[in-house]
Amino acid sequence: MQYAKPLTAEDKLELEKLYEKIQSKTATVLGYPVAMDFDYSELYRFLKFPINNIGDPFIESTYGIGTREMEREVLDFFAELFRAEENEWWGYITNGGSEGNMYGLYLAREIFPKAMVYYSESTHYSVQKNLHLLDMPNIAIRTQENGEIDYNDLHDTIRMNRNMPVVVFANIGTTMTEARDDVKKIRDIFKDLAIHHCYIHADAALSGAYSPFVDPRPAFDFADGVDSIAVSGHKFLGSPIPCGIVLAKKTHRDRIANSVAYIGTADTTISGSRNGITPLFLWYTIKRYGIEGLKLRTEKCLQVAAYAMEELNKIGLHAWRNTNAITVVFSEINKSLQLKWQLASDNGNTHLICMPGISKERIDLLIKDILGTKN
Ligand SMILES: *Cc1c(COP(=O)(O)O)cnc(C)c1O
Repeated sequence: MQYAKPLTAEDKLELEKLYEKIQSKTATVLGYPVAMDFDYSELYRFLKFPINNIGDPFIESTYGIGTREMEREVLDFFAELFRAEENEWWGYITNGGSEGNMYGLYLAREIFPKAMVYYSESTHYSVQKNLHLLDMPNIAIRTQENGEIDYNDLHDTIRMNRNMPVVVFANIGTTMTEARDDVKKIRDIFKDLAIHHCYIHADAALSGAYSPFVDPRPAFDFADGVDSIAVSGHKFLGSPIPCGIVLAKKTHRDRIANSVAYIGTADTTISGSRNGITPLFLWYTIKRYGIEGLKLRTEKCLQVAAYAMEELNKIGLHAWRNTNAITVVFSEINKSLQLKWQLASDNGNTHLICMPGISKERIDLLIKDILGTKN
């Protein structure tokens, strides 16, 4: 590092304080969906290179410092898990679920420029912004008590606009209650109304990485009828850097492919330069866990969620959760405890999310805190 000087004592102290704050905040997360049990130290040596997966992951770039081969392995793993037709899919590692959702809507708009987008009231806040950026007309659909889309309202609303192509933005695990919209039921509505120009994007940011492992398997993937699907990588899988996976039917991607001579690859992704480290993290995760390990992780999370629900009910907090959800919804608690345990709240309810790394002991500490402030 020519021309650089060492940090001053003051700067070092600042770093030390930051480290301590992050460490202590990590020990008391319960309300945000981030896995905390990852260890990527075996990969730290790669951080000294200017890694960049610029452009399309399936077309080599003239820039050679990248991890495309690992990125493709990760995509292949999830394409199979989400039952995409062999050689008929495409995708890339994104900066997170929101980018994947935006990508799905972008593809939908390029195919059906005059479509109406339908999404439930429980949809993630980022989607409104994406629809605004993409300038797509849209209608919010009512949700059922549990956060799942109201299929009757969806049916009636599509019928009223049946002259327009239909894009449904389906939730596979809503932010507040982890409700999953049923993609097969949505397809049935299209059939019933004889809608042929249609597209379904699955926002599986929260639950996509473990939904294949729960029984009964929810209807959410390509075999069930989605056109594209987005998952967050830093949630269930775990990553110190936000990331995600987006997959789509290959024919959809081909419509937007545009080859660019300067980078020697196709500009098929939203950002130009792309993170090459996060694909490496995800690759490491799928190699070390495999299907079996991810299944066991899922079961563990479900057990902790069942335990949390039971313990919260014991102290009278009206806890409930959706089928095979690792999110437990319960009555709002004292503000200072909500801050301490980083619990988001909405309409008198709050939730905790039993991501990998959340132990029963952490649930016990929360319960103890709640009981402590009651007396
Ligand atoms: C987290 C989340 C998003 C946004 O994903 P990011 O990875 O934070 O960009 C979108 N939808 C749902 C349901 C989510 O849980």
